[in-house]
Amino acid sequence: MRLLRISVTDRCNLRCIYCMPDEGVDWMAPRGDLLSPADFEAVVAAAVRIGIRHVKLTGGEPTIRPDIVEIARRVAGLGIGDLSLTTNGLLLDRLAQPLRLAGVDRLTVSCDSLQADRFEQITHGGDLAQFWRGVEAAQQAGFTRMKLNVVVMRGVNDDEVADFALLTREHPWTIRFIEYMPLGRSVLTGDDPDAAIVNNEEIMARIVDRVGPLTPIERHREAGVGPASVFTFEGARGRVGFISAMSRPFCETCNRLRLTAVGELRSCLFDGGEVNLMPALRPEPDLDHIIRLFGQCVEMRPDVHSNRGNRAMSQIGG
Ligand code: SAM
Ligand code: SF4
Repeated sequence: MRLLRISVTDRCNLRCIYCMPDEGVDWMAPRGDLLSPADFEAVVAAAVRIGIRHVKLTGGEPTIRPDIVEIARRVAGLGIGDLSLTTNGLLLDRLAQPLRLAGVDRLTVSCDSLQADRFEQITHGGDLAQFWRGVEAAQQAGFTRMKLNVVVMRGVNDDEVADFALLTREHPWTIRFIEYMPLGRSVLTGDDPDAAIVNNEEIMARIVDRVGPLTPIERHREAGVGPASVFTFEGARGRVGFISAMSRPFCETCNRLRLTAVGELRSCLFDGGEVNLMPALRPEPDLDHIIRLFGQCVEMRPDVHSNRGNRAMSQIGG
């Protein structure tokens, strides 16, 4: 295992159509029952002992936790090599700098449309200008080589993929196109949950049409240990990446564990087993016990994931 993804909350200030149902999801627990900064610190300390060197903070929306800077600071102090955070960016205008100072190495931001009205529809009320203010603040704070995630959905934003790719002419970012995954219940998982999936081959062809041939980048030259295949093209300062969880599951090379905000360690993003870490965390954290539970969780991993998840993405953290 190399990467631990930690969902610090299942709550969010947006309601993206591919992630949540209109009415939102039932919260996993009252706010006060979510793991505390001290709990996260104990889990990461145990993870470091078994060789995990990459930690990702995610959600829900991690930046809506009032103690997110403290969480980042505690986790960053434990000797991991790479601490990143995935966010919808809306609160970065005031949080980018404190997160950087707390020890966050890298940011991934999510944005599914470059058109303000469409962005608002997809997110149910998000303000695209506020997103870009967050990105600007992140750059000022020193997060220059950001990743930007785009979930591609047929009939919703698939006509924008080349526009997104073209952002890399100006910016040294990695734009990552993610195949929509029908997980849990969301606005998009209607009668035919697969209808909105656009496979990456099709997305790539549309991009090549506009920008010319794509040249693969060797994996070790891309920061982090993500599952994307990454490319560049002539005239680009940045890169484009493709995450093909649906058309080409990468389960064999999966190197991650996921922790939910209520302390469940999940073996798979889709439908795997999960182990409750709470008994090893409270009343006092027991690192040896946590390490044993990590081992149990890895044993539960399916060989290849099912195509449906039993939880919403906002509850697992992507
Ligand atoms: N709220 C933060 C954000 O949106 O970046 C972090 C959590 S979000 C669950 C993590 C990533 O999962 C985001 O990039 C989001 O676009 C992606 N995601 C959510 N639901 C998805 C789905 N059904 N299929 C594919 N990607 C999804
Ligand atoms: Fe919130 Fe991120 Fe899910 Fe959108 S994708 S609803 S921002 S958790």
